[in-house]
Amino acid sequence: MRLVLLGPPNAGKGTQADKIVKQFDIPHISTGDLLRKHVAEGTLLGQRAQGYMDRGDLVPDDLIIDMVQDTLENIDIEKGFLFDGYPRNPFQAEALDDFLLERDLGLDRVLYLHTDQELLIRRAVGRRTCPVCRTVYNIFSFPPKEEGICDKDGAVLIQRPDDREETVRNRLKVFEEQTAPLVEFYEVAGLLLRLDGSGSPDEVFDIILKELGE
Ligand code: AMP
Repeated sequence: MRLVLLGPPNAGKGTQADKIVKQFDIPHISTGDLLRKHVAEGTLLGQRAQGYMDRGDLVPDDLIIDMVQDTLENIDIEKGFLFDGYPRNPFQAEALDDFLLERDLGLDRVLYLHTDQELLIRRAVGRRTCPVCRTVYNIFSFPPKEEGICDKDGAVLIQRPDDREETVRNRLKVFEEQTAPLVEFYEVAGLLLRLDGSGSPDEVFDIILKELGE
């Protein structure tokens, strides 16, 4: 199964991606995760990307496309793949098309996860993560017992820099301006599945499986 997961920030792409790759036993290629790893490791790419990420802007296409090519050369995509957060604009979509065409492959489906904008903002602004055990809380919908402290190990919870409200609003604007045109691009190509991402993770996953005919 060759899939792309498309959607605004905080539509739940990461959560659904984890479930989808488990179900279909395919590699998960998240450009956001790859970039965060580069930033954490302090590579040259990480240093170049960090400012864009902290502001919520897109990292330049040449950096992203090189990073994706490198990744694809080192993983087995015979069974398929799930791209999560890539492509993010028409230029990247063309690059992906070219890559697939060269290998005589095509996409099976593009899953477009959409929800109400205010819900997206609450999900992001309220998110707090434990730096030790990675448990993710939300101060509105899943708060820790003691404010700012992880229930499991007592560590002080942190907020991702790109979850601050002004950054979240910028990321949504960037999505509307640069990524949303891909919805039509893939609709015209007959690949798009529109999915309501406002339910619980399990509810959304059930919808995805049904739409994929599982
Ligand atoms: P994500 O976790 O997918 O929301 O990505 C976090 C940040 O990484 C984004 O706000 C961008 O700054 C950057 N990023 C991730 N994927 C891409 C991409 N395909 N193109 C450009 N920038 C990206």
